[in-house]
Amino acid sequence: MPKKSSRRAGAARGAKRGAKRGAKRGAKRGAKSSAKSSAKSSAKSSAKRGGAKVAEKSRLKRVRGAAKSLAKRSRASSGSVSERGENPARGKSAARARVAKLEKVLAYDIGGTKVHTAIIDSRGRVLDEVRVAVDFSRGRSEVFRQWIDAGKRLLEGHPEVRRVGVASAGPLDPAKGLLLDPTNFASAAGETWGVVPISKLLSSGLGGRPVVLENDAAAAILAEHWCGAAKGADDCMVITLGTGVGTGMIVGGRLIRAGRGLHTEGGHVIIRAGDESAVCGCGNLGCVEAFLSGRNFEKRARRALLGGRVDRGAGSGRGLGSDEGAGGSGGAGAGSGAGSADARRSIGRVEFAPGHAEAGFSGAELAARARSGEAAVVALFEEYAELLAVAIHNFVVLYAPQVVVLAGSFANAADLYLDRARERLEELLIRRRHGVDFMPRLVVSPLQNRAGVLGGAVVAFRNE
Ligand SMILES: [Zn+2]
Repeated sequence: MPKKSSRRAGAARGAKRGAKRGAKRGAKRGAKSSAKSSAKSSAKSSAKRGGAKVAEKSRLKRVRGAAKSLAKRSRASSGSVSERGENPARGKSAARARVAKLEKVLAYDIGGTKVHTAIIDSRGRVLDEVRVAVDFSRGRSEVFRQWIDAGKRLLEGHPEVRRVGVASAGPLDPAKGLLLDPTNFASAAGETWGVVPISKLLSSGLGGRPVVLENDAAAAILAEHWCGAAKGADDCMVITLGTGVGTGMIVGGRLIRAGRGLHTEGGHVIIRAGDESAVCGCGNLGCVEAFLSGRNFEKRARRALLGGRVDRGAGSGRGLGSDEGAGGSGGAGAGSGAGSADARRSIGRVEFAPGHAEAGFSGAELAARARSGEAAVVALFEEYAELLAVAIHNFVVLYAPQVVVLAGSFANAADLYLDRARERLEELLIRRRHGVDFMPRLVVSPLQNRAGVLGGAVVAFRNE
């Protein structure tokens, strides 16, 4: 049986964050960027499918109309003057009537162990929520039943809700509403799900309400931009540090996607090639995720503390210069092989002896040990800070965000690595501080474990 672990009515955390201005701007920008990006991606695929240009034009028109309509609704709901000086009184009553119908949505945050559902209003207030542990070992149809039940439970109290937004672990196709053989949703027998029409299946279980799907990291940055740490910053990114590592970017106010309708996979950017202590789930060595996900940090810590030694390296206080930037888009330095080796030595490194995992080294326990001053564990977090700075450097030279938000469960240990990561990042970007200062604000998400559902709400509000 699914376990209901919490349910809170009333305005919850994030209520104030979704203030008028944030709701208005976020919804407006989200609407525009969504409409444009989804329009573009559908335009391409449509052309491939046989050039149904007329149908596509009409779809584009509809999507753009939806964006405009949402922007109007947002202005109306905020009750304030439009940013562009339009007359808010014009069509006010009609807009209000629409807002009355559309001001609340049901949002899902779907992960590999639990589902979080919430009723959220257009100002970012969480009105009601449910978290349920989901047992994937019982197979796909049972998981869907649990997901649908979690949503239905909230809809009982909010039957007027018409739209549903879903932030889910991927990979997935947001435009088509498909999960693409999600990595973490396998049953106990190891059966994978294959391609699943999640939007269609949820919709039929939720009384035919339209369901919009979004990648969880993309949803997280949409939420941060709407009412979190990146509010007002049109160039921003989120790095989710949880079981895996995800990245979501907004550039110029628009959500950035990868090619082929996919999502950026910043967790699989390689930051220390060939490092056999860092085996990644994707099959490569030395990915960002292989070092920085909570699960992999724990795994490497166990090996280091149970069988290895910590080598801080003589040059750990030295800047890495531009050598590590060779992994980005053409850093300022030459990035020669010898330079890279020096740079690697300069990082406080943990040497790993062969060994295997033992219980009792959870992220929370490791953080407690570091806070109590255990030198070997402190060194692990210092290495974490160094590698995080390298990863962020590589994202910064590609996307130039003004704000980088750290989210996910491992962001709870930021007191152990954030200051050092910031210092190292400043060193890595030392040549990029003049003219345009590339150094981003580096902050921990204030949305905590609500970023997923708030992101789901953003995509539901902008859909029509
Ligand atoms: Zn990888």
